[in-house]
Amino acid sequence: MTKLFPTSTAGSLPKPSWIATPEVLWSPWKLEGEDLVAGKQDALRLAVDDQQKAGIDIVGDGEQTRQHFVTTFIEHLDGVDFEKRETVRIRNRYDASVPTVVGAVSRSKPVFVEDARFLRAQTDQPIKWTLPGPMTMIDTLYDAHYQSREKLAWEFARILNEEARELEAAGVDIVQFDEPAFNVFFEEANDWGIAALERAAEGLKCETAVHICYGYGIKANTDWKKTLGSEWRQYEETFPNLQKSSIDIVSLECHHSNVPMDLIELIRGKKVMVGAIDVASDIVETPEEVADTLRKALQFVDADKLYPSTNCGMTPLSRRVANGKLKALGAGAEILRKEQAA
Ligand SMILES: [Zn+2]
Repeated sequence: MTKLFPTSTAGSLPKPSWIATPEVLWSPWKLEGEDLVAGKQDALRLAVDDQQKAGIDIVGDGEQTRQHFVTTFIEHLDGVDFEKRETVRIRNRYDASVPTVVGAVSRSKPVFVEDARFLRAQTDQPIKWTLPGPMTMIDTLYDAHYQSREKLAWEFARILNEEARELEAAGVDIVQFDEPAFNVFFEEANDWGIAALERAAEGLKCETAVHICYGYGIKANTDWKKTLGSEWRQYEETFPNLQKSSIDIVSLECHHSNVPMDLIELIRGKKVMVGAIDVASDIVETPEEVADTLRKALQFVDADKLYPSTNCGMTPLSRRVANGKLKALGAGAEILRKEQAA
C-alpha cells in the first residue's frame, strides 16, 4: 500500500434483514436456492458500498456469504458429519453442540473462491479475504477420527493452503487467517499452532495476515473478559514467535480493551492491523477517539506498517451502528494522515 494508514475491518459486517436475522450469530438464511445466491451477492455488494462510502481502503466481503466464520468453511469439507453432534467447550469458554470429524478431512471443491471472484469484480481497491485458522477450526469440532488436535490442525492447514492459493489466483491481495484460539491455548500455539498457520500460508505471494482477538461482543466472551483482570497480556505469549514467523500482518484488538499497547513492540517489523473500533459496544466512536488509539499505537509500530482496523468482526451489531463505526474508522485514519503530512 502506498497510502499511509490504509483502513480495513477485521472481517464480518452485519447482514441485511432480507437475507438473515440481524444481530444474531449463526442466523439461518431467509432465502433458498437461486434466490439465496443472488441475495448473498446483493448483500456483498452493499457491504462493499458501505465500506467505500466510509473511506475503507482494503475492502472485504463483510463475510456476507457465510453464516459463521468457522463453521461455514468446515461445512464444505468432507470427513465432518454435521448431523452427528457432540457438546464441547469452545476456547475453554462456553459449551456448544458441534459437528464430529468422522473420517479423513478433505476439500473436494473450492469453498469461497467464486465469492472472492465476485468481490474482485466489484472494486479495483485491494481486497482482503478471511479464513479460519487451523487451531480455531479444530476447537469447534469433536474429533472422533484423528484423536489428536495437532494432527487435525495439520490436515486443516493443508486444506486451507489449497483454498488460499485459489483465493490468491482469484485476485485476493491479503489472505487473513482468524486465530482467536491463539489467545487461549498458548502452549499449543507455540508448539505447533503457529507452524500450522505458516503451513496454511505456505507459498502464497499475496500478503498474509493473522487476526487474534478477544472475540465478538457476545455474552460468553464479555463474561470471559471479566475474568482476565485489569491487564490482558495474552498476546505476550504468542507474539515473540509470530514476530519470527512468515506471516506479514498481525491484526489485533487495541481499543477499549485492557490490552497494554506496548505489547505491539513484540511484533516490531510486522505490519499491524490495529483495532481502533470496539465491537462489543453500541456506542459509535468519534473519529478523534479512533485517531487517539492509533496515535498510541504509533509509539510501537512504524507509520508505514500501521493499518487501522476494528477489534473484531461486526456481525452482531446493528447495521446503523456498524456503519457509524466504519465511518469513524475512515475519518480517524484521515486525521492521522493529515497530522503526518503536516
Ligand atoms: Zn476477532
